[in-house]
Amino acid sequence: MSVLIFIDVADGHVKKASLEVLSYGSRLASQIGTGAEAVVLGTVSEDLASLGKYGVQKIHHVNNEMLNHLDSQVYTSVIAQVAESTGAKVIIFSNNVDGKAIAPRLSARLKAGLVSGAVALPDTSNGFIVKKTVFSGKAYAHISINSDIKIIALNPNAYPVAMGEGKADVVSFNAKVDGPKVKVTGVSKASGEVPLTEAEIVVSAGRGLKGPENWGIIEDLAKSLHAALACSRPVADAHWRPHNEHVGQTGIAIAPNLYIAVGISGAIQHLAGVNRSKIIVVINKDPEAPFFKAADYGIVGDAFDVVPKMTAAIKKLKGLA
Ligand SMILES: Cc1cc2nc3c(=O)[nH]c(=O)nc-3n(C[C@H](O)[C@H](O)[C@H](O)COP(=O)(O)OP(=O)(O)OC[C@H]3O[C@@H](n4cnc5c(N)ncnc54)[C@H](O)[C@@H]3O)c2cc1C
Repeated sequence: MSVLIFIDVADGHVKKASLEVLSYGSRLASQIGTGAEAVVLGTVSEDLASLGKYGVQKIHHVNNEMLNHLDSQVYTSVIAQVAESTGAKVIIFSNNVDGKAIAPRLSARLKAGLVSGAVALPDTSNGFIVKKTVFSGKAYAHISINSDIKIIALNPNAYPVAMGEGKADVVSFNAKVDGPKVKVTGVSKASGEVPLTEAEIVVSAGRGLKGPENWGIIEDLAKSLHAALACSRPVADAHWRPHNEHVGQTGIAIAPNLYIAVGISGAIQHLAGVNRSKIIVVINKDPEAPFFKAADYGIVGDAFDVVPKMTAAIKKLKGLA
């Protein structure tokens, strides 16, 4: 039962989520007494062999420029070819945007059971049972995968990156790459310095900021922490901020190590997208704001007073002031 791990890259760079799945897949491989192999598509500007330090022994590189941008149908076909050639029985993705686009297609193609949103290594003592989050992270389900081939999509930030020693054997895989099924007519890049889904720290703000002209204090705080920017849905709906910053049930789901929410009430639909954050800090002038119940740390105060003071203190601490 060999394990195949999908390495996700953006602009040729390996994403942090990929290091998590490499660590997870390699640990699973040793748990079930097999080897860990990986597959990466398109041009990569990093030393792939060095990814061996996350436990993977062999990496199949389909180095074809046609794969430099995600086309889920083409990616599925290529990954299926690698899976079939390596005889992979467990295939691991990150449950990020790319993983969500590819894993279900691959599941249908390979007739493989899929668990998406996994948060822990499977229990393989009697079968193959994967723990996953359900109901927007409010509960866990334990799902048994009974098919011959099994696919797991691991939630970002649910499994620690484990680094050891070693080099992976990088081999070129000559796959049949179909022409693109969709035509990309334009690409618009998110404006922030740090991509939201990859960020360790996120500074987010809501309607309490009163208007887009006040976002300077949020941007300054984010910059001082090298954080990504996010916002609540009404803020994006009102075009105060771009929709790619909207987090929550109908926006992006994130799980940073630190989530700072400024002037956000903490409605259940907002929490659904951020409650997997490791530490939540809430700044709100209303002590009864529901978000305080989900917070690890709370500051009751006016954002226009608290946030600049926080930024100044952080800059001083970092020697930036
Ligand atoms: C089907 C559905 C899906 C939804 N999906 C999402 C989603 O994905 N994401 C999302 O965010 N919402 C979503 N919503 C909307 C959600 O229910 C809330 O309406 C929304 O999250 C509220 O945004 P807010 O907290 O920015 O604004 P408000 O609820 O208006 O809260 C503003 C907060 O700012 C505080 N405040 C005001 N002034 C200050 C100040 N000077 N300093 C500090 N604090 C201050 C107030 O005390 C208040 O708590 C969805 C709703 C529905 C029905």
